[in-house]
Amino acid sequence: MSGARVRFAPIVLMLLTGLLVTAMPVASQDRLKAASHARAGWAAVRAGRHQVAADAFDDAIRITPKDASLHYGAGLAAWMQGQSQRAQVELREALALAPEYTEASLLLGEVLYRANDLEGAIVVYEQAATRAPTHLPLTTRLEEWRKEAALHRDFYQAQGSHFTVLFEGPADEPLAAKAIELLEHAYWRVGGEMGVFPEHIITVVLATRQQFRDITRSPDWAAAAFDGRIKIPVSGALRQPEELERILAHEFTHALIRTIAPRGVPTWLNEGLAVAMEPGGVASSVDDLKDLKSRLPASRLASGFAGLSGRDARAAYAQSATAAQALIERQGVPAVVALLRDIARGDPLPEAFEYRMLMPWRDFLAVLGEPDQR
Ligand SMILES: [Zn+2]
Repeated sequence: MSGARVRFAPIVLMLLTGLLVTAMPVASQDRLKAASHARAGWAAVRAGRHQVAADAFDDAIRITPKDASLHYGAGLAAWMQGQSQRAQVELREALALAPEYTEASLLLGEVLYRANDLEGAIVVYEQAATRAPTHLPLTTRLEEWRKEAALHRDFYQAQGSHFTVLFEGPADEPLAAKAIELLEHAYWRVGGEMGVFPEHIITVVLATRQQFRDITRSPDWAAAAFDGRIKIPVSGALRQPEELERILAHEFTHALIRTIAPRGVPTWLNEGLAVAMEPGGVASSVDDLKDLKSRLPASRLASGFAGLSGRDARAAYAQSATAAQALIERQGVPAVVALLRDIARGDPLPEAFEYRMLMPWRDFLAVLGEPDQR
């Protein structure tokens, strides 16, 4: 027996070492491949090529599925493209693999918050705060959310099928009912036309202490970051139901655009579509342009209308709306929505524009605004 052992041992040993020799390089080669996919993913995130990033992280995950940072990358790439559900799945996976992963918690909380799941967002940040109690961005945001949750509990809410109405200031039930009716109408009209519906319930905050005014074309309103909630000053709004309808349709369109492309959308396209989807928005923009006689350069319409004078803001919105309308008439709303999706993927705008609109980008810039002086 002992002789047999002695004879067989070297064979077993040879087999084992043979296996190791062949197995090791394959495993480390795979790891190298995964690392190279991951590097490509992060480079694509930095370059704003979100779809390229998502594909690269998927490739890496297929090789090393237990790497939390890859799921974080995949979650980030999904989030950048407005894919809230997918982002949540990936980020939860990252946290299951590495519960102390604060960046993943930070992003997941934010994704949930934007998806109108305030309670869920608070839970994620509370868990993260037990592991990182001195992380200031985390604890500050958590404090804000707790205050907001307390506000939601204390204040009157009205619930529509697709909207929650909250009041900042005294509750006003007839106004809430009217707002929900107008919003539900906008939901089907604008959502139907664009072929896109929001993934989740949208919160609308009615500021009942502030006098109703047209916030949709005001430069200071454009400066306020739209964070997924529609907030409007409404005191006295029931006396002007048509204005209220126009403003709610405008803001709902922004919410929809954000669903399709959370970032990277040039202001002229974002505001232009929002005005074009208002009842009578295009007609009043055409009138405004006739009235004003002067137009802004296209380059001024790409990034934010904050800081414009009242007159310039009027021109900026009117130029954006007529340009958006021209695109809709040229290729139809679905092509414009496809362009938004390209932007979300991180495709360069001029190329995506020419592909979707079958029109040279330079020619369009000449339609959008005056040529630059310089
Ligand atoms: Zn707007």
